[in-house]
Amino acid sequence: MKRPRQPSKNQACTYCADGRGTTKDHVPPKSFFPKLDNKTVPITVPCCDECHAQTSGTDGTLRNIIVGIKESERHPDVHAELSVKMERALGDPRELKRVLELMQTVELVSPSGIYVGTDWAFNLQGSPVDHFAERIMRALLRHEFGQPFFEGVFGWHPVSEPLPDLIYAGFATVGKARIVHRVFSYGVIGFRDSDEAWAVAQFYGGFEMFIRAKKAHGQSAEASIPISV
Ligand SMILES: [Zn+2]
Repeated sequence: MKRPRQPSKNQACTYCADGRGTTKDHVPPKSFFPKLDNKTVPITVPCCDECHAQTSGTDGTLRNIIVGIKESERHPDVHAELSVKMERALGDPRELKRVLELMQTVELVSPSGIYVGTDWAFNLQGSPVDHFAERIMRALLRHEFGQPFFEGVFGWHPVSEPLPDLIYAGFATVGKARIVHRVFSYGVIGFRDSDEAWAVAQFYGGFEMFIRAKKAHGQSAEASIPISV
């Protein structure tokens, strides 16, 4: 297996245009894993102290949100260990408030279109998950393609239907795809003739984020999306 790029203090920060990579950021954060063994190598990217303070400040809340999503519930690590951590974290009123603010009721519809009632779900739009999507994408572009700070816009949405296997195969063949651990896997891809890149990030075998990065106008050619094809 290819050795991951090790951050160096001389490199630029992955998340901002100005900072130096004096520290490293883990994607996903270490708190997302049950116990990290030596065989698991999470992605690490160079990061400045200021960005690191911001990202590490939201790690716990992000873990609590993603572990709390229905698609994650059945994962054995969530069941055995992470749900206990989440329960303990929600004993803190500030953390409980952060999570409750995202809750809303949704209408449930059967596959044949019949309304079957309401349930609770997280409204993730405008939540810390937006920043997390950008963080994942920047880290993947840096880690897989050596992309420096990317001037562009980022967007994401949850994958409500699992992507077809053929799309995953395409990510693996034409782009980069990797199972980091049973709690996290990803695919990332860009094309030379396009100013966009895409990634799919899957957590706990259920929750999937489809993330898109689009180059800002006027960006120099050498900073364009790095690409495998
Ligand atoms: Zn930074």
